[in-house]
This record gives sequence, structure tokens and C-alpha cells, in this order.
Amino acid sequence: MTDPCIFCDIANGQIEADIVYQDDDVIAFRDNNPQAPTHVLVITREHYMDVEDLAQFRPALAGALLDGARAVADVEGLIEPGWRLVFNTGAGAGQTVFHVHAHVLGGRPFGWPPG
Ligand code: AMP
Repeated sequence: MTDPCIFCDIANGQIEADIVYQDDDVIAFRDNNPQAPTHVLVITREHYMDVEDLAQFRPALAGALLDGARAVADVEGLIEPGWRLVFNTGAGAGQTVFHVHAHVLGGRPFGWPPG
């Protein structure tokens, strides 16, 4: 028996999400607790725990995840103003859902370093 995973359930259609982009490898949907006017999560259809796991074991799929993030930025109109891409990796970095996801954020100014 495998552990339940909320993002696997979004990927297989068991949990509803506001999907903004999808292709053979990835699905992108709006974060339900948005931190910016545009806040979209891009996940791989296949389960990997985090981006470290993905990059180590499936680097080509990591590339597909980046392609998906760029496609989201394009459809959301963020290419020109600019956008932020975040991978929280590990509980100590604030990761709460352990299925790899990129946060695509845009629509407001972002400071550096992040808070
Ligand atoms: P992280 O803290 O990097 O693991 O980010 C997990 C993100 O998933 C958070 O920003 C949550 O708001 C978001 N989230 C959790 N469950 C859902 C859901 N069912 N639909 C959309 N976003 C979700």
C-alpha cells in the first residue's frame, strides 16, 4: 500500500483543482492559498518527493517541469513583467506537500532576499 498523496490525487483526477496548463508530463493548477495575484503549482504526473529526488533520478523530467513552469508564465502573461519560480525542498525549507512542485508566482513585486 502506498501513502496517500494529495497532489497524486489531483494528477489522477480524484481531487478537483483549477488547472491552467497540462501536458504529458506535468499538470499546473492554482494554489488554494495564493501568495501573489498569480500563484500556480506545477507538478509532475509521476510522484517524486521533491526537486532533489526528481533531478537526481529523472533529470529529463526535471527539464519538462521547467518547460511547464515557463508555459504557465506565458499563459498567465508573466513573461514581460517577470515571474518567480520557487521549489521549497525539505521541511526545513518550508515544504509541506511531499510531491515535487514548482511555485510560479507573479503579478506583484518581489523583494530579495525572500522573507
Ligand atoms: P509547499 O509549502 O512548498 O509544500 O507548498 C504546498 C502548497 O500547496 C501550498 O502553497 C498550499 O497552499 C498548496 N496546496 C495544498 N493543497 C492544495 C490543493 N488541494 N489545491 C491547491 N493548492 C494546494
